[in-house]
Amino acid sequence: RRRAEQAGALDRPTVSFELFPPRNPDAAPRLWSTVRELETVEPDFVSVTYGAAGKTRQTTRAMVRRLLRETSLTPIAHLTCVGTSREEVTAIVEEFLDEGVRSFLALRGDPPAGEPDWRPHPDGVHTAAELVELLRDIESRRCGRSAAQAVRARVRPLSVAVAAFPRGNHATGGTRAQDVQALLAKQRAGADFAITQVFYEAEAYLGLVAEARAAGVTIPIVPGIIPTTDPARLLRLQELTGVPVPRRLFDLLGSTDDPVERHRRGTRAGVDLVNGVLDGGAPGVHVYTYNKHEAALDLLDGADLIGGRRCTVTAPDAVTTPDLTA
Ligand code: FAD
Repeated sequence: RRRAEQAGALDRPTVSFELFPPRNPDAAPRLWSTVRELETVEPDFVSVTYGAAGKTRQTTRAMVRRLLRETSLTPIAHLTCVGTSREEVTAIVEEFLDEGVRSFLALRGDPPAGEPDWRPHPDGVHTAAELVELLRDIESRRCGRSAAQAVRARVRPLSVAVAAFPRGNHATGGTRAQDVQALLAKQRAGADFAITQVFYEAEAYLGLVAEARAAGVTIPIVPGIIPTTDPARLLRLQELTGVPVPRRLFDLLGSTDDPVERHRRGTRAGVDLVNGVLDGGAPGVHVYTYNKHEAALDLLDGADLIGGRRCTVTAPDAVTTPDLTA
């Protein structure tokens, strides 16, 4: 009932995907065939990751540009700032804006691992909240210069998303309480909505939302969902993010040798998670695809978010004004 009310009031849950730029030219054809498959379900947006310390600056930009020019998708460019000078971050943002990018996921990023002597840039942008503020400053400077052209060209307002952490940010040792304060700072700096780190229990997401709302966070918090069909990937993700995968999930997937059955069980577990967050009031789901469409689309299909979606037309400014507050 809750979901019906939510959908009635808000039209429908949003659906979006995370992709990463191809690691080498050979990976590109497969990625673009995945993009075409994902495009068929008319997602609200797709986000494109930015390699740690800006390693994929050129490939992220090229991919976002191609998404803009050759597909009907709305790309969100991830952007990190750790270790980069303010001047350089500004130049990167200007490049994206010149390409026509209007949506960013503003992240601090992580300092390089295994470099004990690493120091932040003395004239750097040190937190995601500072990056959101910088994005807003750059945009208002550009609008100031060419407000009339912007109105004539019907330029969409800038949309800025940020990260949120249902179980605290293990990479930084941040507790959930600290991360809620960080989220509040990002909202005050001008963030429009948040996307969460992976989690495996609806309670983790719902607990974060409750704590964030109590602290004054009002922006929509979109749960980031990983299809739970591949135990090897879950293990790697656990090492990377520090978010523990529940034993029951490994047991469920590991107790069969049949890949079809494993896929079915993993999809079922993912669908339960999606249903749990949507029933709890989540505004939509952001699926971590790992550049593969099958598991992502099976997950959405199982959760009745394809075809059965209340609205099949992508709202042009769904990302800019995601009026989806849970
Ligand atoms: P911040 O919000 O700046 O927080 C960093 C640390 O400082 C946290 O521990 C936080 O608690 C603390 N802090 C900051 N402000 C405050 C405050 N006001 N009060 C108390 N504590 C505070 N990384 C990449 O390199 N490339 C990507 O493309 C990428 N995509 C991501 C997408 C999503 C959806 C998520 C969830 C993460 C992604 N990451 C990516 C990882 C991310 O960069 C790291 O998790 C990074 O450690 C934190 O980034 P942040 O933007 O949350 O930083």
